Amino acid sequence: MQETESFAFHVPGLEELAKVLQAGLKRNYADVQVSVIECPDLTQKPFGFPVKGICGKARIADVGGVPHLVPLARLDKIYNINTVAKEIELPGAYILGAGAVSHRTLGENAELILSVQAESEHKAAVNGSYVARISPEDGACLLEKYRDKYADCDFGLLSNLYASEGKPGKVIQVSASRRTGKDNFVSCMRKSLGSYYGDKPIGMGGTFIIQEGKAKLHIMPPEFSTCPLNTDEDVNSWLKFYEMKAPLICQSVLVSRDPGFDLRLEHTHCFSHHGEGGHYHTDTTPETVRYLGYFHPAEMLYRIDKPKETHLVGRD
Ligand SMILES: [Zn+2]
Repeated sequence: MQETESFAFHVPGLEELAKVLQAGLKRNYADVQVSVIECPDLTQKPFGFPVKGICGKARIADVGGVPHLVPLARLDKIYNINTVAKEIELPGAYILGAGAVSHRTLGENAELILSVQAESEHKAAVNGSYVARISPEDGACLLEKYRDKYADCDFGLLSNLYASEGKPGKVIQVSASRRTGKDNFVSCMRKSLGSYYGDKPIGMGGTFIIQEGKAKLHIMPPEFSTCPLNTDEDVNSWLKFYEMKAPLICQSVLVSRDPGFDLRLEHTHCFSHHGEGGHYHTDTTPETVRYLGYFHPAEMLYRIDKPKETHLVGRD
């Protein structure tokens, strides 16, 4: 594991956050209801997480970064969830989020939709993650449970992670439907927090369901580009884009403002029970879309193995 820096987020109360999100989302969605509730049991459908909740010592970890993917992929950049959990001082943490698979494990590149309870002294890790890849036969999405094929808890290149003790507790329930503005669900929450809290960074993570409608997602190709991807246009023509249908369950991490750690400010990966999944961009059905999510603020940010050289390409 490479060097780690940490930072304490500003952590407002849940009721205050709910009010800020309610007002912010209302500018972008016709129907919005944000409230503080007991976290539903996330071991149940459609979530199927290895833990009941997303509460307890909440942290965000930003590991590696897009500069490990473009212009050219760094195949040597392999990380491990159990190691990350120790690095953020939360062994046994439940970790959700968005990242890339380990090339060493899969022999190719793919999207990783993270949902892992890291190992602790008494218990082996439970890896409930999904892998979304492009089918070599027809170019369609191929979504698989990670543990059906692989036994490790590794990932590669980059990941944006929300970690907690996985306990039940109070969370912010966010319900929004019928998009009236441009921002996607996560950007809208992130920008609402950013404009209210200004230079005090807020970090949040959680899970949401796209209950109705369709969404634009991408999947990275199995082969890394052999010619350097130098611009957003290069990256977008390398990625494969899909329109996928609800219900999609989305693992999401967002930070309102970068306090100087070269962060990715939002990253969301989705899985489903109908074979679709990948990296969330936005819904494509503003009139009918319905979002329902559960979020919790993070107390601490951990920046692990920040790329030595950086750029702003491919951060969408
Ligand atoms: Zn992604």
